[in-house]
Amino acid sequence: MKFSQIIGHRTLKDKLRGNVIAGRIPHAQLFLGKSGHGALPLAVAYAQFISCKNRLDHDSCGECSSCRKYETLAHPDLHFSFPFSADKGKIASENLETWRKSFLSNPYIDYNSWMRDLGAEKKQGNIPIAECRDIIKSLSLMAFESEYKVLILWLPEFLGDVGNTLLKIIEEPPVNTLFLLVAESSEKVLGTILSRTQSVRIPPIEMGELRDHLVAEFQLSEDQSTRIALMADGDFRVAIDLMQGVESPYFEMWRNWMGMCYRVKPAEANAWTDELATLGKEGIKAFLSYGLALMRSVLVVAHVPELNTWTGREGEFVESFTKLQFSVDQIDKLVQVVEQCLFEVERNAHMKALFTDATFKIARVMLDKKN
Ligand SMILES: [Zn+2]
Repeated sequence: MKFSQIIGHRTLKDKLRGNVIAGRIPHAQLFLGKSGHGALPLAVAYAQFISCKNRLDHDSCGECSSCRKYETLAHPDLHFSFPFSADKGKIASENLETWRKSFLSNPYIDYNSWMRDLGAEKKQGNIPIAECRDIIKSLSLMAFESEYKVLILWLPEFLGDVGNTLLKIIEEPPVNTLFLLVAESSEKVLGTILSRTQSVRIPPIEMGELRDHLVAEFQLSEDQSTRIALMADGDFRVAIDLMQGVESPYFEMWRNWMGMCYRVKPAEANAWTDELATLGKEGIKAFLSYGLALMRSVLVVAHVPELNTWTGREGEFVESFTKLQFSVDQIDKLVQVVEQCLFEVERNAHMKALFTDATFKIARVMLDKKN
């Protein structure tokens, strides 16, 4: 995968390329970002760039023997590790063919779609101890063709305590060995692993870049692409779902929250905040970003009903919310409360207190209209 195949991230790509050209290649890095932001394809493109035999300033060549093997993820010095279910074998490489197919058909793959591709959607994914031992074994071999051996370990969140068996090799790897860990949520990665890796944060895709990509690749109009890119908030997976009318996994929860605020039911709020807490920090951030996109649409649709690009139950929600006839000022205030929550979550606020307070604030904003 070449850098040019990845949507946006110009600054980050420049930085990664610059470091390689300057010979600054840390041996253990953690690419941290949502799957829809492109953390995994960036790690693969970075590894391909390092291994390319005719590297150009701005990208790998795409044509040398190394690049050609990278294009099918079949380079002998490129290793992958990822979560899989216990019934699919003892080590990740038993699922390598499925993994290659899944990644090549969608490099922005996330955990749920991977488990579905693996035929294990109802099973628990895991990176077991046998896999950790296999990683250590395969990295102790000499590189076959490249200067470097690279291990891309996708979703170290699934390592559990057995991940500690990797500490020594991450800290003192065999010569010319690179660890590229790709995680969505740093809080679920073992602290002992985090402290041994350099973080590379993958931010959301820039709005303009995502919009241009949607225009070029999906034949959408400028207008449609702009709206979808705005709602997707830099997440290519969300953009795809919006285009395909797939309902967000956060929809129910958002609808429940708004319903609770509207009916003013503090007792429900308690159970709801408990459920919310199970999402973890990154999940809560994604939930709030999604809710913000929905509520911003309410503002737009209140003025121009044809601009409702949501479909199914989400479309109905946006439509019925506009029919409650809140003022622009009220929706604005509601959006501000949610934005403040997002800010506080980022700063590790106490979730239960934060959302109990936010529920009351939103209820008050909504009540203004009822009186
Ligand atoms: Zn090349």
